[in-house]
Amino acid sequence: MRITDVRIHCIHLQIKPEFVIVSSAGKHAESRYVIVQIVTDNGLQGWGEATVVPNWSGETQGGSFAALSDYMKPVLIGRDPEDVTGLMRDIDATMLDNWFSKAAVEMALLDIAAQAKKQPVYEYLGGAKNPLRIPIKFSIGLREPENARQIAIEKVAQGFTALKFKVGPDPEKDLLRVKLVREAVGPNIRLNIDTNGGWTVAEAIREIPRYLPFNLEYVEQPVPRWNIDGLAKVRANSPLPIMADEAVFDLWQADEVLAKKAADCISIYPGKNGGILKSMEIAKRAESAGVACHIGSNLEWHLGTAAMCQLAAACANVQVARFPVDILGPLYYARAPRRGAIEFDHGHVHVPKGAGLGMQLTEDEIKELGAA
Ligand SMILES: [Mg+2]
Repeated sequence: MRITDVRIHCIHLQIKPEFVIVSSAGKHAESRYVIVQIVTDNGLQGWGEATVVPNWSGETQGGSFAALSDYMKPVLIGRDPEDVTGLMRDIDATMLDNWFSKAAVEMALLDIAAQAKKQPVYEYLGGAKNPLRIPIKFSIGLREPENARQIAIEKVAQGFTALKFKVGPDPEKDLLRVKLVREAVGPNIRLNIDTNGGWTVAEAIREIPRYLPFNLEYVEQPVPRWNIDGLAKVRANSPLPIMADEAVFDLWQADEVLAKKAADCISIYPGKNGGILKSMEIAKRAESAGVACHIGSNLEWHLGTAAMCQLAAACANVQVARFPVDILGPLYYARAPRRGAIEFDHGHVHVPKGAGLGMQLTEDEIKELGAA
């Protein structure tokens, strides 16, 4: 099998206004993503999503389009799509970073390679190690506390048993948001906070104990992504477990977090880590160090979400019962694929079981998303 074409589509998706995410990392109201479509000479096609958000990875829609068309496409044309590892190694040698764009290429390659074996990607990667109906949590941005309380009540009524709150810039309001929600939802709903690197080390050490009355499960990325020594210091002084998210894009960053014992859990996902295989490698190294993994999110659309589901299913160290995952992007968008949308029920996501990533996209509908 040979790759005959790589088509790159820019798409625009509006976040439902009531769910616009505001965090210490900024505001996310519109998604300008890139879809990769890899075409082969035997009729199989693969799809991937570059979930590019400038204030997250530095990648933009225009930059991703250029990276994919000018640098990655030439590596792919004429090659065997089932040589996923070899192709990604050559792409890594062509371009540094560009995590989400590389992940889109890898998704499309794995989509084809698994379809060629008539398997879902999780089977292709060694079989399901987790249930195919996975508990998720809902994420609530820097909302007014009363508004956060209302959203929390609504989500619990829909069946969510875990909620995550963005906190950081306003300690008293942040605390009040969590307090009101805990009072409203009772003791059995699992709560945690994510500062998206919004605290200094001193602030984190001061603020985390203030949340103890609200029975949180963990604190995500309390200090900036570059400060792994600081993260280790926070962890050493924290009464709550610490999760590393923005601190771990690349393998070497995972190694550093593990070596410095800076986290109890590492958040991984295909986009941030440059592909499912690199996320799995991080999970493997974390497992050797006795550290759990969790699936984070960048508000993926259905395609990127399908890849996250495949990773969650395939990876034993993604401890879904202990850390409900952030596989929730599609809930934030009004637009869904015409067929084969990711399914959610009562605070769970269903891993697609069809061949490849399990999506059934058409070029026409992706082009419509570009015109939207
Ligand atoms: Mg996070």
